[in-house]
Amino acid sequence: MDLEDTKVEAEYRARARAFLEANCEPRSGKITPAEPYQPGTPAMQAAKAWQAKKAEAGFAGIRWPEKWGGQGGGAIQEVIYAQEESRFNTPPRGVYEIGLGMCLPTMIAYATDEQLERYTGPALRGEEIWCQLFSEPAAGSDLAGLRTRAVRDGDDWVINGQKIWTSGAHFCDFAILVTRTDPSVPKHKGLTMFFIDMHDPAVEVRPIHQMSGASNFNEVFFTDLRVPDSQRLGAVGDGWRVALTTLMNERLAVGDEPRPDIEDLIAFVSDFPLNGKPAIEDPVVRDKVADWYARSQGVKNARFRAITALSRGETPGPGASIGRLVNAIKQQEMARFALELMGAGGIVSDPAMAPAQGAFQQSLLSSPGQRIAGGTSEILRNIIAERVLGLPGDVRVDKDVAFQDIGKA
Ligand SMILES: Cc1cc2nc3c(=O)[nH]c(=O)nc-3n(C[C@H](O)[C@H](O)[C@H](O)COP(=O)(O)OP(=O)(O)OC[C@H]3O[C@@H](n4cnc5c(N)ncnc54)[C@H](O)[C@@H]3O)c2cc1C
Repeated sequence: MDLEDTKVEAEYRARARAFLEANCEPRSGKITPAEPYQPGTPAMQAAKAWQAKKAEAGFAGIRWPEKWGGQGGGAIQEVIYAQEESRFNTPPRGVYEIGLGMCLPTMIAYATDEQLERYTGPALRGEEIWCQLFSEPAAGSDLAGLRTRAVRDGDDWVINGQKIWTSGAHFCDFAILVTRTDPSVPKHKGLTMFFIDMHDPAVEVRPIHQMSGASNFNEVFFTDLRVPDSQRLGAVGDGWRVALTTLMNERLAVGDEPRPDIEDLIAFVSDFPLNGKPAIEDPVVRDKVADWYARSQGVKNARFRAITALSRGETPGPGASIGRLVNAIKQQEMARFALELMGAGGIVSDPAMAPAQGAFQQSLLSSPGQRIAGGTSEILRNIIAERVLGLPGDVRVDKDVAFQDIGKA
């Protein structure tokens, strides 16, 4: 593990920091709850303006080829920029994370030059937003079990079916969509990927109301959606491989600890009174905070290992799952603890009146989702067990069975 920047990396870090210092306020101890993104809201406008500014300064599409408006850099530069950006108050990256981090890299791998000429620039500048239409009511952890059907009709494909949990579908312009084109072969083999226009009238987006009050993800229905064959990504039947390109890019997005993070918690307990003293002076509070701090440091060091692999041109292994697993559980525990500490004040959600501006309440309500999104805690444990620890594999009874015969005795 190498914790030092090389000369080139140090120069890149200095350039990123200079850009951020010139354009944003440094991160303060004050926590503010994230505002939900809806079309036209101030939060959305701020996210779009920030993305445009980053693109202009060359800090968007850091790993993308220069030909498509990117910087032709490596994952290590992307990590350095993300580390620097986390020291400043910027609009959260959530609006663009899936599109720029996962959908467009898939497009770059499989779309034609003419298509990339059309789509990469507006995406990079934040003018058009993309989402990922993968999960279905009966296909999440077992994504290859999806049922949305695409049937060839002349030069088009006709698509019918339903996706669910699609983050941002209600404000997105385009999407990548994985479908089943051949049910007569085993489940991973009969899939095909497309990209689609989310404004097509045959696409219906129904927001899902969450317990936090937000509606960040959606159900998406397709009724005889016609998609030209030219919008197919990869070969017919090769959709699983294309989907893996998307999911590999998700792993490369070496995630930060979501806020409020351990530093926010320490700032909060240093200020919040308990028995006439700052809560941090209470031994029980100190004990708990020390435990989460130790876990944060563990995740941080595991990330350094991944960054070292990246800087050597290697791909981080399945060990990256450890960070996501620990962070998601820690977020839920820390938020619950902070709310318990606040007592009755913890139920106040108005940021103007609530202790810590209601940020821990929002964190608690969104934390179950963090234990599911992009792989549930159980699936991450399976990955760690099988691919890091080398334990025996999960039982896969439908391996090599034609999709249409799964479930038949
Ligand atoms: C906040 C959020 C955002 C999301 N955004 C998107 C998005 O933009 N696009 C998209 O396509 N999807 C998105 N998803 C969906 C997400 O990928 C799925 O919810 C996730 O993969 C789990 O699938 P599932 O919900 O169908 O649960 P299931 O797979 O049905 O799992 C149900 C339970 O069974 C357990 N389980 C399943 N299989 C195993 C196994 N083999 N071993 C042990 N336990 C198992 C799971 O851990 C879980 O507890 C999002 C989800 C969330 C919460």
